[in-house]
Amino acid sequence: MTRDSTSLQVLPLEDRYGRVARDLRVSLTDRCNLRCTYCMPAEGLEWFPTAETLDDSETLRLIRIAVEDLGIRQVRFTGGEPLLRRSLEDIVAATKRLRTDSGTAPQTAITTNGLGLDKRAARLAAAGLDRVNISLDTLDPEHYRRLTRRDRHAGVLRGIQGALDAGLTPVKINTVIMPGINDHDIVSLAAFALERGLELRFIEQMPLGPPDQWDRARMVTAEDILADLRTRFELTPAAEPRGSAPAAVWDAVDREDPRVSGRIGVIASVSHPFCGTCDRTRLTTDGAVRNCLFAREETSLRDLMRAGATDSELADAWRAVMWAKLPGHGIDEPSFIQPDRPMSAIGG
Ligand code: SAM
Ligand code: SF4
Repeated sequence: MTRDSTSLQVLPLEDRYGRVARDLRVSLTDRCNLRCTYCMPAEGLEWFPTAETLDDSETLRLIRIAVEDLGIRQVRFTGGEPLLRRSLEDIVAATKRLRTDSGTAPQTAITTNGLGLDKRAARLAAAGLDRVNISLDTLDPEHYRRLTRRDRHAGVLRGIQGALDAGLTPVKINTVIMPGINDHDIVSLAAFALERGLELRFIEQMPLGPPDQWDRARMVTAEDILADLRTRFELTPAAEPRGSAPAAVWDAVDREDPRVSGRIGVIASVSHPFCGTCDRTRLTTDGAVRNCLFAREETSLRDLMRAGATDSELADAWRAVMWAKLPGHGIDEPSFIQPDRPMSAIGG
């Protein structure tokens, strides 16, 4: 990969509220082998035709610009389901060969549903993958089948074990809590995670899937989750400052067996938004840059790239998108409108 000579200076992705993006989320596909009810309709979505999506060299060119010219220090691959991208190992390895503005390789991570990870975790670790978040919303295979519309619970458990065996630690688990669906699983999921040295992150459900699946009045909030956890665990706020991390992290000790302890995070994206410290920028699988999950506007770097834009023109276009970032997502405001793109087509 070569740089064009006009783009040698790092000018970070700032916005008018003083935030600087250091964390890039790259969606490697909008396709998925599950149909989680909070994310997709049963019939799936209209996937992007391959010609409209970025190929590996286009994807890597934009990641290089983000790291070398725009000050990105962490790259997280997501989707859709990133393990469906066959070249994921090559993309991770090429990303790790880049150098950030502090001279180190960027941190790399994936967010995945875990299916097939058991077969690829060792290769991904060898490619330089630093961290993995695996989504698991219930321990009950029947609830899992209803929630994801696929009978693949055992495959996720294998994926989690594969990540542990490959040393991709701390393995994090993402759990979205939905009222009446898995809100009774909060304590058992936490115990499962603590017993295995997994770091669980409970996530408030956001209005990014089928509109009939989200209701602000009924949603399970961070307070509800913490109240449930306290019925069994002693929780104290973790000592480290939170910085731009979305999760409030707690040190948890199991009162039933105090030898079982570890960390649990709660991501209160709706009830206590962390937009003021957000350090993210997003690249969709069809090459659009977005400054927020909930953005109503985006810019296609793919179109600019395919029309012959230079690296510095692409970097300038990216900076312009980030400069326009709003102070907050405004979910609780009456004027809030759900973005047209679903979560799987943005990259969660
Ligand atoms: N397929 C991968 C997975 O499920 O981990 C990566 C993409 S998925 C869109 C990324 C994360 O977003 C997952 O942890 C998923 O649970 C979460 N997610 C999806 N829809 C959501 C929603 N409406 N609210 C909150 N989180 C959501
Ligand atoms: Fe697929 Fe992830 Fe969406 Fe579930 S949350 S349907 S696994 S993209």
